[in-house]
Amino acid sequence: MSETSPASATANIGVVGLAVMGSNLARNLASREGNTVAVYNRSPERTTQLVEAHPEAGFVPAATIEDFAASLQRPRTAIIMVQAGAGTDAVIDQLCEAFEPGDIIVDGGNALYTDTIRREAAVRERGLHFVGAGISGGEEGALNGPSIMPGGPAESYETLGPILESIAARAPEDGSPCVTHVGTDGAGHFVKMVHNGIEYADMQLIAEAYDLLRRLGGLEPAQIADVFAEWNKGDLESYLIEITAEVLRHIDAETEKPIVDLIVDEAGMKGTGTWTVQTALSLGVPVSGIAEAVFARGVSGRTSQRQAVRETITAKPEAAPVSASFVEDVRQALYASKVIAYAQGFDLILAGAEEYNWAINPGAVAKIWRAGCIIRARFLNRIAEAYDRAPELDSLIADPYFAAEVAKGVDAWRRIVATAALSGVPAPVFGASLAYYDSLASDRLPAALVQGQRDFFGAHTYGRVDRAGKFHTDWSGDRREQQVSS
Ligand code: NAP
Repeated sequence: MSETSPASATANIGVVGLAVMGSNLARNLASREGNTVAVYNRSPERTTQLVEAHPEAGFVPAATIEDFAASLQRPRTAIIMVQAGAGTDAVIDQLCEAFEPGDIIVDGGNALYTDTIRREAAVRERGLHFVGAGISGGEEGALNGPSIMPGGPAESYETLGPILESIAARAPEDGSPCVTHVGTDGAGHFVKMVHNGIEYADMQLIAEAYDLLRRLGGLEPAQIADVFAEWNKGDLESYLIEITAEVLRHIDAETEKPIVDLIVDEAGMKGTGTWTVQTALSLGVPVSGIAEAVFARGVSGRTSQRQAVRETITAKPEAAPVSASFVEDVRQALYASKVIAYAQGFDLILAGAEEYNWAINPGAVAKIWRAGCIIRARFLNRIAEAYDRAPELDSLIADPYFAAEVAKGVDAWRRIVATAALSGVPAPVFGASLAYYDSLASDRLPAALVQGQRDFFGAHTYGRVDRAGKFHTDWSGDRREQQVSS
């Protein structure tokens, strides 16, 4: 490739890492007016392949990282799309050597936000800018317009913003690009992580709705596809509902059976759902619906336990009778549970913002998820409106619109959770979401009793509803109460 190595700085943006995501992003960049894209990959074959397959893109290929740096106009801007973890660290190191102060390194991979915070500090130390940018939408999104969640220093967004805006998806409602400066250092990757957590919950909820419609509603996959296609015309309109209908309608060419009946019922995962739940646990945020969705994938993979338990079952519960409005009940339960998944996700985003001092605008986050990403949905407009109405909103379900929506569906939601439990059909995210809602809505929680237990065995103290201060009862002695702090 040396004969094609650039002699001068002709590119305004570069991409390092040309596997599926990087090459699609590079093609997307090259297709936009005014961009000349430098490309580099550790194994040169990938670079050659991409450049030869897409002569129309006018790529500037580089054989070495030094050539790559030389091909970029200053301030240099490079987007890294390599394997998360050690690969990303290696490439950042190489770029820091080849680049100069003021240049911008963007990590578009799926990095853990704490790694991004660490990397941003280390790169800043060397006088360069580092931007961790969450990119959602898979390979198709990378090529045609993803949702982009950049963090990093605000000033780097001045250079980077117009480039990212040129390649991002556009919201169908107002044509605005699905990208915004989310917050400093790791904010972008944090928000992308929570996006994926919500995605886990959304997918599991749709799967639970399917299971109920099939096992209790007696519908076949193609009929459920029709139901989902119908739902997709209303409040539930979303990419995930749309693709679910397509999967359910698909018939295996060889066996002529619905493909869903031939796919092994073990769901895989790559880790971002787990990160979301781990982070929520460490920040004390109850993301119970998201957590149950991650656990549901875990349970599905416990094949020998599933077999062992199945063998102990002698009598299966009778399917509980379903009402005439069963399909509509499932729709309402799905919608209400979905509101909870988003309420929990935004709760986590705002807790992260507080912990890490990020000025995250939740309404702006909802807006950039309206297109390009996997959880894109009509419903996100409503979330954006809720946060526009009240930026300090305590919980999405405290917003008047969502409170009314959930209240409208709550009876159906209860019928569905109860029917599922009585019939032995697992609906963990429907159930956990309803319990979360009921917990927030309860006047009193049994947490009072838990505090009593904690004080009994560990002298952890408790507050009183009728007096200020902290108290302890001498449980093992005379059971007199003392005030331990004011
Ligand atoms: P990938 O399989 O995650 O990574 C392969 C790329 O990383 C190759 O270009 C490889 O170079 C490079 N690489 C690995 N270790 C390296 C090292 N030590 N030094 C230099 N380069 C190294 O690729 P991908 O699926 O296109 O994903 C890229 C990034 O986007 C990942 O962080 C991924 O998590 C994220 N992402 C992926 C998706 C998706 O749908 N696939 C969606 C959103 C985000 P060689 O060719 O030399 O091996």
